[in-house]
Amino acid sequence: MSDVRDVIIIGSGPAGYTAGLYTSRAMLNPLLFAGFSSGGQLMLTSDVENFPGYPDGIGGPEMMMELRSQAARFGCKIVDKNVDSVDLSERPFKVNVGSEIYFAKSLIITTGAEAIWLNAENEEIHKGRGISTCATCDGAFFRDKEVIVIGGGDSAMEEANFLTRFCSKVTIVHRREGLRSSQIMEDRAKENPKIQWKLNYQVKSWLGSDGNFEGATLVNTKTNEEENFSCDGAFIAIGHKPITSFLDGQVETDEHGYLLWKENSMTSVSGVFAGGDVVDTRYRQAITAAGMGCMAAIDAERWLEDNVH
Ligand code: NAP
Repeated sequence: MSDVRDVIIIGSGPAGYTAGLYTSRAMLNPLLFAGFSSGGQLMLTSDVENFPGYPDGIGGPEMMMELRSQAARFGCKIVDKNVDSVDLSERPFKVNVGSEIYFAKSLIITTGAEAIWLNAENEEIHKGRGISTCATCDGAFFRDKEVIVIGGGDSAMEEANFLTRFCSKVTIVHRREGLRSSQIMEDRAKENPKIQWKLNYQVKSWLGSDGNFEGATLVNTKTNEEENFSCDGAFIAIGHKPITSFLDGQVETDEHGYLLWKENSMTSVSGVFAGGDVVDTRYRQAITAAGMGCMAAIDAERWLEDNVH
């Protein structure tokens, strides 16, 4: 059997890189699979203004490069490849990456979650430049602007309410008459004078050229009539999905597919730890993900000490 690592980290947002930093400083010689598009959701964010330590803000991609080089500085080996699958049925655990198999005594899963995009026409060219999936990250860039929020669940209500702090007008576009959100969130949105409604509408396509977002073509889901709706930005809030398919059901999840912590940051499989958005249905912030990456690293180190070394 080839080299057995103490720790393999899967995923490269703030949680993964922080786990890499802590485990490499703990001399665990970690190997981190960052994925083909390393860096996670922050690679889609322009400026991060709410991560402590950056009083002037920092670009999302730039912050990820800094976290990455900080982890690498202490010896974390980072490979920009996707993990295809893992085998947790035997020890050491097997991590399959293309045709290669890697072995590890413990795993830290920090693969995050991805916002579900609408995939309407022209969406790709406006992603991160007019269309966002995170009001907390990008809302402040739309001060005194008019935006739309797509979705009818709690996320959409929460995003819309939050955006009214900055925006002059927020229009919720939802494909049905009835909302999916909880009553209290719905009431709060309905009582907010800055929030307008476009119920029974779906986005068909986005308007504007690259770098110049102009709005959306909406289609009435009852009459099929189309109309162009001008706005300065759009926030898609139709849900997130945790990235766990490579685990193939070997780790217990909640009903939405998020990994569950069983003992501190350890999952249902002893020796498999998790942190960041892949477990987090509530906070979903870079700083909380980094904190959970740190927790998973410390828990993995202690588990290795007690169970393996
Ligand atoms: P959600 O409850 O699944 O709602 C998603 C919404 O997006 C639904 O209204 C759905 O429409 C709409 N949608 C889905 N696919 C769409 C598409 N392709 N085109 C247009 N609309 C689409 O997701 P969520 O709001 O992210 O909430 C997920 C979970 O987190 C829920 O349990 C929620 O309670 C919880 N959460 C709680 C809070 C809070 O308490 N503060 C905040 C956020 C989230 P339909 O209704 O027509 O299906």
